[in-house]
Amino acid sequence: MNNFSYRKAYSVPDAVNQVSTQADAKFVAGGTNLIDLLKYNLTSAVALVDVNPIEGYHAIEEKTDGGLRLGAFVTNADTAYHPLIETRYPLLSKAILAGASGQIRNMATNGGNLLQRTRCYYFYDANAPCNKREPGTGCSAIGGYNRIMAILGTSESCIAVFPSDMCVALAALEAVVNISGPDGERSLPFAQFHRLPGDTPHLDNNLQSGEIITSVDLPANGFANNYSYLKLRDRNSYAFALVSVATGLELEGNTIKEARMALGGVAHKPWRVTEAEDFLRNKAASPENFAAAAEIILKGAVGYEYNSFKIELAKRAIVRNGIMALHPETQLPGAHPSA
Ligand SMILES: Cc1cc2nc3c(=O)[nH]c(=O)nc-3n(C[C@H](O)[C@H](O)[C@H](O)COP(=O)(O)OP(=O)(O)OC[C@H]3O[C@@H](n4cnc5c(N)ncnc54)[C@H](O)[C@@H]3O)c2cc1C
Ligand code: SF4
Repeated sequence: MNNFSYRKAYSVPDAVNQVSTQADAKFVAGGTNLIDLLKYNLTSAVALVDVNPIEGYHAIEEKTDGGLRLGAFVTNADTAYHPLIETRYPLLSKAILAGASGQIRNMATNGGNLLQRTRCYYFYDANAPCNKREPGTGCSAIGGYNRIMAILGTSESCIAVFPSDMCVALAALEAVVNISGPDGERSLPFAQFHRLPGDTPHLDNNLQSGEIITSVDLPANGFANNYSYLKLRDRNSYAFALVSVATGLELEGNTIKEARMALGGVAHKPWRVTEAEDFLRNKAASPENFAAAAEIILKGAVGYEYNSFKIELAKRAIVRNGIMALHPETQLPGAHPSA
């Protein structure tokens, strides 16, 4: 373990100033990802700036436009179990609770969840070439064991997936990320927050140096009547998704008035194809139409030696999750959906 300084920040400008004026300084929130990366020498830090003491971003608040603002430093557990999230955004609650473990969710924060790094095996092996960890060294996953890797939006430089569950729901809900930095405040629509690897796979997102996430806004419509989050993985708990799907539907009878679908475990960012949602508008909520939407979403998918199964798995998951969204009672804690 390398030496680093540890200081608390007491305001957003203080935190931004500390990180942007020191070389190799990083924010730390729950520490559930960053501390692991430091311990394994997969990232470095000369200074850690603890954002937890900053007041004003530890709450979930109703906004005047009918939406909600999630403070960046609220834990994943407090977010998932908040009455306003459980009742108005159960898709988000379900997605968060599908991730990690109770202990980790008690520490992990909303801001940190958006910034967690990939779980590519080779990224976590300091001896393996990895363009994301060390640009220009190559990608060990492309010709290696790539069972958990991406099938959409990949590049010749990197085929890693972004592992968050929470972010899949945030993508489907069209959340907005609020950011503060050396040049002031700005907001990014969720679809523009994370990046595809291209030839810069070391960049996971569009946050600039010294910028801090202060909150995440949810629009008024939480798709609380018809929703489902399906996570398919090798173990039934404490494992990252091979494929996950967040679905929200607005229905009139059995006709879809609005659909939202985002996929996790398949790309370098939560994967949402609005063309598929447009296709479903004013159509029956039927397995056939969900299957046609799945074909649109998976258009251009490319499998590698060990992960081609994900293409068919993702298509079937989209159909199954669409059907589950028609029966949200299967989403209650303890229920075992069997659609
Ligand atoms: C064993 C294990 C299993 C897991 N399983 C899952 C899973 O199944 N699904 C899932 O979704 N996640 C899973 N996770 C990941 C977990 O959700 C993340 O580690 C967590 O959300 C990160 O939040 P944190 O507050 O601990 O971030 P930290 O570790 O403190 O920080 C992560 C990164 O974000 C930066 N950062 C933190 N907060 C801010 C901010 N407000 N603004 C700017 N930068 C910031 C830090 O500098 C760091 O780079 C798992 C983690 C572990 C250890
Ligand atoms: S897939 Fe990306 S993270 Fe994994 S080894 Fe290749 S470059 Fe590194």
